[in-house]
Amino acid sequence: MAEREGATALLQDLIRCDTSNPPGDEAAAIARLAAACRGIGLETEIVGACRERPNLVAKFSADPARRSGRPLLLSCHVDVVPADPARWTHPPFSGHNDGTYLWGRGTIDMKGFAVMALTALGKLVAEKLPITRDVIFVAVSDEEAGTRLGSKWLVEERPDLLGSDPEYVLNEVGGFTVHQGGHRFYPVQVAEKGVAWLRLTLPGTPGHSSLPSSDSAVTRLARAIDAISAAKLPWHPGKEAMDFLLGFARPQGRLAEKIVPLLAHPFLGPRLLPLAIRDPARRNPIEAILRNTATPTCLRGGNSINMLPGSVSVDIDGRLAPGQSAADLIEELHAVLRPVLGNVGELTVLQESEAVSFSTDTPLYREIERTMKSVDPEGHVVPSLIPGFTDSHNYAKLGACCYGFYPLQLPPDLDFAALFHGDDERIPIEGFHWGIETLTEMLVRFLRAG
Ligand SMILES: [Zn+2]
Repeated sequence: MAEREGATALLQDLIRCDTSNPPGDEAAAIARLAAACRGIGLETEIVGACRERPNLVAKFSADPARRSGRPLLLSCHVDVVPADPARWTHPPFSGHNDGTYLWGRGTIDMKGFAVMALTALGKLVAEKLPITRDVIFVAVSDEEAGTRLGSKWLVEERPDLLGSDPEYVLNEVGGFTVHQGGHRFYPVQVAEKGVAWLRLTLPGTPGHSSLPSSDSAVTRLARAIDAISAAKLPWHPGKEAMDFLLGFARPQGRLAEKIVPLLAHPFLGPRLLPLAIRDPARRNPIEAILRNTATPTCLRGGNSINMLPGSVSVDIDGRLAPGQSAADLIEELHAVLRPVLGNVGELTVLQESEAVSFSTDTPLYREIERTMKSVDPEGHVVPSLIPGFTDSHNYAKLGACCYGFYPLQLPPDLDFAALFHGDDERIPIEGFHWGIETLTEMLVRFLRAG
């Protein structure tokens, strides 16, 4: 009981540290977690590119005589996306506890996991569990703005603190209950789409805007954005996406199991999906893992109301299906834009990283499956591909096998997806405590010597 109360109180403390990114300001939250690490007997190291944006690393070392595997990282980010208090039922940085939910920005994404991992680790340390590999707790800054000062910095500048070549990472986006068709599923993230952040620049002829032009750089850009938003880019149903969809289909009967494989067909798939799932809110996340996507976000144009600009641009948040590159996406966008613009202008790559995917044929994945079976015998563990990215795409560069496993038992009436970066983010307290016990049990089974 005291352990549950301690976990809830620590999460409240963390929520009350406003780590909205931008600007970040993660130092107080990192200091609070460092104190909690020291409280369970771990030595801590706080490092980073600058003092205001620190990262925390704490290690529970295996006895060298027992050590048989490379380290396991338990990783979380402490920064959160901003929140507008006017849109929330309870203030987003209050940590309000209504007896059922703990409210606040970061409860789900992902301070809850920081507390969960640390509580589990505290138990292993207190029980002096004879572990077979080092366990490294990592809390980073700056994930929400692209990871530059957080996991990217750690991987590039201080990989030694991450055990140099960690074998496994447990991180966010997985392990929570999905209720569908009368079944309970637990997706475990094993793949993330890649990123291709692009800029489309269109030239124009400067001139006086008292003379209207239907073909100025601005109007051409508007047509380009419209075309990109309406486009259905080519279908790329990779193994990761299909394993995910099949995992959901199998328990839902023979019809679902027969229809889902047809989604892999390049002609049938894109036509079948809107018929199989009519609700766009449910269909979009599935469609997003079956194609590259391109979403226009930032516009740059003229700076004088009475002048036609000589150049305009739009930034495009491109996401890559596994196996795809920025060059592939650019080719797809050229095909969309050519009929609209003729001369397409310039598409440049601002940032690119490929999709990452990790094997499910590992002792850790099997232990996750076994543990979930024991805590929910009727639940189904499903390997998942997410359309976004997490710190795992950096850890993958160290050769680590990364899973999103942040176990949370969720009630059927909670729209969990809407809580990520949404208003009224909150965590069910019972489900959070269930997650702590589940993660602890899984770690004990996985890490215990022989
Ligand atoms: Zn996150």
